[in-house]
Amino acid sequence: MRTLDQIMGDGLWPSYGSPAEGIRHTAIFKVLSEMLPEYVYQHLVQKAKNFRWFIPKGGQHFGQLQQFPATGKDPDGKSEAVVIYLSPELDPLPLRDYDDVLDRAIATVLHELAHFVLGHREGNVDENQAWNLVVEWGFKDLVEKRT
Ligand SMILES: [Zn+2]
Repeated sequence: MRTLDQIMGDGLWPSYGSPAEGIRHTAIFKVLSEMLPEYVYQHLVQKAKNFRWFIPKGGQHFGQLQQFPATGKDPDGKSEAVVIYLSPELDPLPLRDYDDVLDRAIATVLHELAHFVLGHREGNVDENQAWNLVVEWGFKDLVEKRT
């Protein structure tokens, strides 16, 4: 079990919010603290400076401008920021089953981290490859439940 302090110290926590901030933060905390195998977690620690979370708050703004530090170079050598976006649509609506909604958020976090680990870029994304990697990490049940 990895603590929030450790995850923050490793540079993997979003720029704002505690695990209780909302379901997207809860999902990230569960994935990073207890779900990911150690070798996957360590891989992410090595690459922590190469991506940023983007978790916009829902229901407040129709538009938003946000700066991200460049996290690496694209294949043409230009600066870029790799951003993992988690939609406010993942937040629970009233009367929805919380466990199902949390599973959906967790599956999304795992899936997007898999895209990152695989080096996928916008326009060059293999969805099956990403889901297969999530299965390889030990989350076959979550992936099957998703469909
Ligand atoms: Zn995808």
